[in-house]
Amino acid sequence: MLATVGEEIYKEWKEKRNNPKQVPLTVAYDMGWNKRSSGHRYDSVSGHGFILGGLTQKVLHHKCMSKQCTKCFAAKEIKETPIPHECPQNHEGSSKSMEVEGIFRIIQESFYDHRYQLAVIVSDDDSTMKSNLKHSFQQKIDNGLMSIGDWPTTEKGNKKSDNGRLPLSINEPKFLADFNHRVKVIGKCVYALASMAKRDSEVTKVMAERVKTNWGLMLKQIRHLDFKKNYEKIKNKVRAPIEHMFNNHDHCDHAWCLPLKARKENKNFEPVENNPYYEKKKNFKMYQQLCSAVERFQEDENVRECLHMFNTQINESLNMCVSRYVPKFKHFGGTMVLDSRVRCVIGVHNLGYANYYLALLDTLGCVKEIDVNNRLISNSILKIDHAKLNNKKGDRHPNINANGNMGAKLGPRDSCLKR
Ligand SMILES: [Zn+2]
Ligand SMILES: [Zn+2]
Repeated sequence: MLATVGEEIYKEWKEKRNNPKQVPLTVAYDMGWNKRSSGHRYDSVSGHGFILGGLTQKVLHHKCMSKQCTKCFAAKEIKETPIPHECPQNHEGSSKSMEVEGIFRIIQESFYDHRYQLAVIVSDDDSTMKSNLKHSFQQKIDNGLMSIGDWPTTEKGNKKSDNGRLPLSINEPKFLADFNHRVKVIGKCVYALASMAKRDSEVTKVMAERVKTNWGLMLKQIRHLDFKKNYEKIKNKVRAPIEHMFNNHDHCDHAWCLPLKARKENKNFEPVENNPYYEKKKNFKMYQQLCSAVERFQEDENVRECLHMFNTQINESLNMCVSRYVPKFKHFGGTMVLDSRVRCVIGVHNLGYANYYLALLDTLGCVKEIDVNNRLISNSILKIDHAKLNNKKGDRHPNINANGNMGAKLGPRDSCLKR
């Protein structure tokens, strides 16, 4: 019996060794633009996207996208063929579509060239990305993987458009929502109510900010939970941010709900003047408007996307680093300089400042002066010391509570206890 089991395991191991499968990974993806902009203006000529390992937080792959090439452009002007060169121009179409195109190329390159696949992608809520990184329905039907009758339909009963571009050999990735981005989107929906005329909506900007803050605090309380095992608890908690505003604290958590905390400690609680609690009967229209604004974020699928501990914070801080190497007031997208500078940022992030530059000098075969090593190391120590110096004594990270544990921020704008 044991021999047979051993034989099977050996066979399986041998098969795996001969046909190694791609390792499924969870990654965080975000794209940065190389032009200064604000809000929803997407007109940058170039951009760069990173994927970071969910656990290692190291850059696994990157893609620089550009719509221009200086050499190709110059040759076109004089109607000649350009001299052979490494061409940075790899994208046509809108700047917004760069983000999807970037991850689409990364997913293919990592699968075919690097033997890992992006099983879970943590990103901003981007519906185009989700629909593009799927298998085409038509292709699935042609290959006998789906019948025509199974073609997904919209709520109105029409056939869903076939936007999937992913080759059938690559598994479709799953998507998780970035915590901070999701809270921002919810804030936007409520702020939209606040910016309406007073006769249409009584929601104020202060209320919108309170809903946004409370939603973030509520998500922090449930993000570590298993969706299936704690289904009832989670469905109960997601109602808290709105119910809390209308003085119903049955769904709240005492870690962030001050009235509940006061009740637990047998203290009197009085709301501050600017942050009153409303009544459902009296402000029924406001309650209904708020409920319908956040309703879709309380749906199972949308809540499930937030239950994880990954985020795209490092991606965003790397984008900040890139903006130092690639200043936004200069245009680098026309040459390969953009890619080289982005690679410097990746090297410093993955290896550390001194290690990266020593390795670079070594690779280039540069003769190292005696003090290069010491200079680089002292530079990197200086950087660390600066960070320490800037952090004044006694200052804590805003998310670290008095006990020194990471936790919800207490006493936010929603402060209701008189101290
Ligand atoms: Zn070119
Ligand atoms: Zn409450």
